Amino acid sequence: MKTPRFRTERVLSYAKTALRGVLQEGDTAVDATMGTGQDTEFLAETVGSSGTVFAFDVQPAAVDTTRERLGVLTDRTRLILDSHANMAQYVTAGVSAVMFNLGFLPNGEDRSIITAAESTVPAIRTALRLLKPGGMVSVAVYDGHPGGAAERDAVLELVQALDSKEFQVIRYETVNTRQRPPFLLLIEKSAR
Ligand code: SAM
Repeated sequence: MKTPRFRTERVLSYAKTALRGVLQEGDTAVDATMGTGQDTEFLAETVGSSGTVFAFDVQPAAVDTTRERLGVLTDRTRLILDSHANMAQYVTAGVSAVMFNLGFLPNGEDRSIITAAESTVPAIRTALRLLKPGGMVSVAVYDGHPGGAAERDAVLELVQALDSKEFQVIRYETVNTRQRPPFLLLIEKSAR
């Protein structure tokens, strides 16, 4: 018998659906946690050849893997080996979308290199400042690893305190599971 398919999307891929709604050809976007480059690739395809994607990671292996994955798409990206906390040194205002995928590099050798509240919170603040009206920040939050719960709480504290006239924050998550799956925060800046 065929397994029935769900009509709802997996939590993480829903970030792409939401961001497609705000991104246009020629836009500037940021991947704040490059990792294996899947999100960088998505953003580079979505902004097209006239757009620009800035991607950050603190691990040289992430930059290498992403460059390899991107191939010809590399021409519209800037792959930056630095913390997303320093985003404002590289990116000026007018950003349409910023993606955060917190946690550690999937299949990476060193799982101690992990996002942490100390840099994640200032980086999200900077992203919100750089965002243009109508733009969106997505944050995939995992809390099952050491330090994950502290980062989750710090991120939630930040987004819950945002002025609702300026930002709308949506939480998207699976509720019928005993595991601790990631959840998604979508922060949309008012179009004014
Ligand atoms: N989006 C990625 C993908 O498509 O494969 C997955 C990201 S992975 C869950 C989290 C990444 O954040 C890791 O590669 C890790 O090295 C990176 N990271 C940790 N601290 C960081 C920081 N302060 N600035 C930028 N990246 C960081």
